[in-house]
Amino acid sequence: QKSQPSDTTLAHSCTPKTIGQLAREVGLFSKEVEPYGTTRAKVRLEIINRFKAQPDGKYVVVTGITPTPLGEGKATTTLGLAQALGAHLHVNSFACVCQPSQGSYFGVKGGGVGGGYSQVLPREEGELCRSVASEVMAVLVLSTSLEDMRCRLARTVVAYSRVGNPVTTEDLGISGVLAALMREAVMPNLMQTMEGSPVFVHTCPLSDIAPGNSSILADQIALKLVGPEGFVVTEAGGGAETGMERFVDIKCRASGLCPDVMVMVASVRALKMHGGGPAVTAGSVMPKEYLEENLTLLENGCIHLKRQVENAMAFGLPVVVAINTFSSDTGAELELVCARAKQAGGVEAVPCSPWAEGGAGAVELGQAVRRAADTPHRMNFLYDLEIPIVNKIRTIARSMYGADNVELLPEAQRKSTLRTTWESHRDQKGLANLPVCMAKTHHDAERKGVPTGFTLLVRDVSVHAGAGFLYASVGWVSTEALMRP
Ligand code: ADP
Repeated sequence: QKSQPSDTTLAHSCTPKTIGQLAREVGLFSKEVEPYGTTRAKVRLEIINRFKAQPDGKYVVVTGITPTPLGEGKATTTLGLAQALGAHLHVNSFACVCQPSQGSYFGVKGGGVGGGYSQVLPREEGELCRSVASEVMAVLVLSTSLEDMRCRLARTVVAYSRVGNPVTTEDLGISGVLAALMREAVMPNLMQTMEGSPVFVHTCPLSDIAPGNSSILADQIALKLVGPEGFVVTEAGGGAETGMERFVDIKCRASGLCPDVMVMVASVRALKMHGGGPAVTAGSVMPKEYLEENLTLLENGCIHLKRQVENAMAFGLPVVVAINTFSSDTGAELELVCARAKQAGGVEAVPCSPWAEGGAGAVELGQAVRRAADTPHRMNFLYDLEIPIVNKIRTIARSMYGADNVELLPEAQRKSTLRTTWESHRDQKGLANLPVCMAKTHHDAERKGVPTGFTLLVRDVSVHAGAGFLYASVGWVSTEALMRP
């Protein structure tokens, strides 16, 4: 690996512009921002009214192959692409990223604020500006206005009556207080990249129990601020089969926004792992397979890339594959990935180096994204909301995960019938018509490559009535094992 100062050293070597200057540059009035120190500010939601009549900018969503412990660099590519568009291709750009969920890793795997020459500044504030981890966070992700947030909080189920009916915060008379507590949290945090491009860092990913995306409000405001010719690059957590599916079927349904381009981030070494490369554990020596050319492993791993490109294309949008290059990648390896990505669906595939070169390393990617945004497209959802819950789950499992079938265990069976009959007693709207958030993460079984021959077991179907989705807890079992007597 090329030697480069650590992410923290690089971040400390830059002096960010003041938040006042950044806010002015992106077109915000001083009354529309609430500064927190000199480098971060909350942006007031009233700003949307000022731009009501203005068309949105182009909307680019960044996803990736199924994450591996080797890292693909989605946040780094998101920030590098925004820098390339803004500082190098001279179009207005904004990046929208999640507040890092450091969880049990304490940021060891990367803080979620990018790396190398494509980071959020000040790094430590980006890493620390997170709040609550619950359905309330999912409400913040999916709210489209202050009023919408109030309604979502009011219908959040916090308990059940003795006969099993849902009890909401509204029933307890606490929804107003809750909304008042969230008044500041709902405002996106304005920050900047190392090259001074604007970034919203807002809402925590929670990709195993919630959509795993940054907030709708951050995207909405950024799309207005960049103007009709500008670009907003937003990150969808997880791989295309999880984060991207939730982005479209849950987040886009709630926001009414449609992306113009999907960027699929892959790295040579992560693809080698999908191709059967050895496991890597924290602190262990990096196996030579990931440091030296190995076209056989990579060729095997490209089957996974093909599958993920097909997943992304299922939503009807132009796809650009971004190969986040590491210094150990060879020319032949990069050529192979480009060729296979193109074969997968006629998509553009572009090597980029946002980590080693910042925006300058993602200019070609930026150009490919601009070309893709100009191609005709029409986004489609994966399923209709009106179909039975089990059919929604089956559609996602078969088309995105490659499952043979879906089996509802008794508790999931019972709950899914219950959800179908429940009426949210405030708005009388059936909860069964909500989209489904699958609690599948890349941690589920050590599955790499293109898993086949398995049945997806659904253990439970719970409801996040406030956030606005059903939540299916799933596990994997091989079809062969199920068929054994
Ligand atoms: P993701 O969003 O996919 O989890 P990040 O962009 O947060 O990944 O990057 C994870 C870690 O990998 C960070 O510490 C970052 O500095 C490092 N990283 C990303 N891209 C590269 C690269 N091309 N070369 C070396 N390190 C990289």
